[in-house]
This record gives sequence, C-alpha cells and structure tokens, in this order.
Amino acid sequence: MFGALMACGAVCIEATRRLGMPAGVSRDLLSAWWLPVALLLPPVYALFSPILLQVLLQLRVRATVLYRRVFSSAAIGLAGCTASVVFHRLVPDPAVLSRGGGAPILYAVACATLFALLNTALIAVAAHTADPDTRWRDVLWDRESVLLDVVELCLGVTVAIACGLNLALLVLALPPVVLLQRSLLHAQLQAAARTDPKTGLLNAAAWQREADTEIVRARRTGETLALLIIDIDHFKRVNDTHGHLVGDQVLVGVAATLRGQLRDYDVVGRFGGEEFVVLLPRADISEARRVAERLRHRIGRMAIPADDAMITITISAGVAIMSIHGDDLIELLAAADLALYRAKELGRDRICIPAVQPTPPPQPPPDPPLPAP
Ligand code: GH3
Ligand code: MG
Ligand code: MG
Repeated sequence: MFGALMACGAVCIEATRRLGMPAGVSRDLLSAWWLPVALLLPPVYALFSPILLQVLLQLRVRATVLYRRVFSSAAIGLAGCTASVVFHRLVPDPAVLSRGGGAPILYAVACATLFALLNTALIAVAAHTADPDTRWRDVLWDRESVLLDVVELCLGVTVAIACGLNLALLVLALPPVVLLQRSLLHAQLQAAARTDPKTGLLNAAAWQREADTEIVRARRTGETLALLIIDIDHFKRVNDTHGHLVGDQVLVGVAATLRGQLRDYDVVGRFGGEEFVVLLPRADISEARRVAERLRHRIGRMAIPADDAMITITISAGVAIMSIHGDDLIELLAAADLALYRAKELGRDRICIPAVQPTPPPQPPPDPPLPAP
C-alpha cells in the first residue's frame, strides 16, 4: 500500500512536471497521498513518506534551495505522524474506515484537519522567522490556501477510504487528482505572470490593465481617483556603494512598505527599475497628497541592513488626479511623470502635484440678434 501511494504521488509529480513550477512558494495536492499513508499505515510511514516525494520534486521538477525542501519534508512528516498517532489512538483498526461507519470517517476528517493545521503552523513559523516583518495574519490566513487545504482534506480522506476498500481503486483516483493538480499549477503560473518576481507587486503590464479598469469605473461612477509615480532617489548610489543584491533588498523593502501602508483596493505595481506606481481609487487631491506624504515619510524612516551599515533612502513622487490632470491612464501617467520630474529638479525627497491652469469662467452666450423692426 505504501508503495502504491508513493507511486501515485510520483505519477502526479511527473504528470505536472512539463508545465513547470512557478518560482517561490508553490502549492501542490500531494497530501492526497500523504493523508492515506497517515490514516492507514503505522505512524512511522507518515514520518518518512514526504522525504521520498520531496527528493523526487528536487531532482525532477526544480532544484530549489535545499533547506526549503528539508524543512517542507520535516513539517509534513511531523504533521502527518502526529495526525497518524492520534487517528490510530481513536481507531485502532484503520480497516474499519472503509466499512462506512460514521465515527471513523469523522475521526479521519478531524485528523486530516489536524494535519493541515500543524503543517500550516510549522510553515508559518518558518516564514515568519525568515521575514519577521510579515504579519502573522498574512502567513497564517490566506483564503486561497485554506480552500486548497479543504480540497486536500477531501481528496486525502476519500483516497484513504477507496484504498482501504481495494488498492486497485487507486487507479480510479489518480486521473482526477492529476487533473486537479494540473489546473492548480495553471492558476499559479497565471498568477506568476501578473507579478513582478523581485517585489511581488503587480508587474507593469498587469498594473496598467488593472489601472485602466479602475479608471473606466471611476469615469462611469463620477468618482475621483489619484495616480502616483514614485521613484527612489539616487538609487544608483546604493547599488554602486553596496552592490546590486543590497539594492534588490531595498526594492523589496520599499515594495513591502507600500503594500503595508495602502488599502487593499489600491493598485500597486512596479513600473520598472526603481519606479513604482500606485492608483488610489476614490482619493481626491488632499487625500492623495496625504497618502503620498505618508509613504514618503515611512520609506524615509526605513533602515535596510547592509554589510556594516544601515541604508536609508528617500523617494520623490509625482501625483495626478483624475479629471484635473487627465482623463485617461496615458494623460494621468504623463502628468504624474512631469510632476515627478519637477520633484527631482526641486531637490528630491518631496511630492509634487502639477499646477493646474485656472480655467476661465464660461462666457455667457452672445445675445441673439434682435429681429429687425
Ligand atoms: P534619481 O534620484 O535621479 O532617480 O537617481 P537614480 O540613481 O535613482 O536614477 P537612475 O535612473 O540614474 O538609476 C536607477 C538605477 O536603478 C540604475 C539601475 O542600475 C538601478 N536598478 C534598476 N533596476 C534594478 C534592480 O532590479 N535591482 C537593482 N539592484 N538595481 C536596479
Ligand atoms: Mg528612475
Ligand atoms: Mg531614481
């Protein structure tokens, strides 16, 4: 049974291998095979089964940093082993799981939930230790990954029941799991194509698409909207003094501060190099100025550790407001860019808003000519 479940896992990995894996943390549905191991076999199998599949992932799919694989295997192994011990305490003979009794199935679901909770908690501790600035809520609670956990739970328990009935039923379970896994990868690759890999913000193309949608919406509803272009001051000096890797860390820090300081529905992107763009739906001129000043202040207070010093940077930003400085994305970008240019000229570390030519009051229409007497 252990061999058959691991073989199913291996088939899943091989079947999705050609699609490629998005960089960074990615999700799979391999718990569909780890959970039956935990529920049906003695706990020691659950402890070691992740090692096999993680080795296969490392060799066949993507050679990621080794400690990440080791940590993943350890987290899944510990979570699976704990769930297995608890399940075997509750249901001493796991074969009863496939006899259809309510209680063993309920216990299996509870233990699968325990597995998911422990695994998430261990990964969250690692993510938080690696980057203490991330909020606990962000590493622990993500609607998309909770949904995936639920799918894995359903698959795992169903496969365990089928497996207990007859090992050959794994042949029926395999194709739908492979298909699910492939569609999951597809979604992840789609998301990866929208984001800038260095900062995790939207890339320029995706930002323009979303900004355009917001602008059309604002025009339809008559709401205000503001656009900021933010540029790091003298960023070349950071690279020249501390190297490009430290420069990259500064970019990541700025991106995190932007994301942390803005509302969920603000559209933030990396426009290129050390330039960022922000769209603030429903912000008028005073709100946009307030937000931009807050960002400037926050980023100015950031300290990024480099070899033997703490790096601080400043930013300049140009602001443009819908209907005042432009009516579409191109006009707003041009106006904000001009304002940014002005901010740089005036000495950097400041926010500029383009001056608006006062529009002359509308002239009353000329009197109609009097009819000839
Ligand atoms: P200014 O205040 O006028 O904006 O000066 P600046 O030095 O920030 O601007 P400049 O356009 O002269 O230099 C931008 C630098 O940004 C040059 C380039 O090497 C660097 N850069 C662009 N993209 C990246 C990146 O992804 N990582 C790193 N480390 N540096 C980058
Ligand atoms: Mg620049
Ligand atoms: Mg710059």
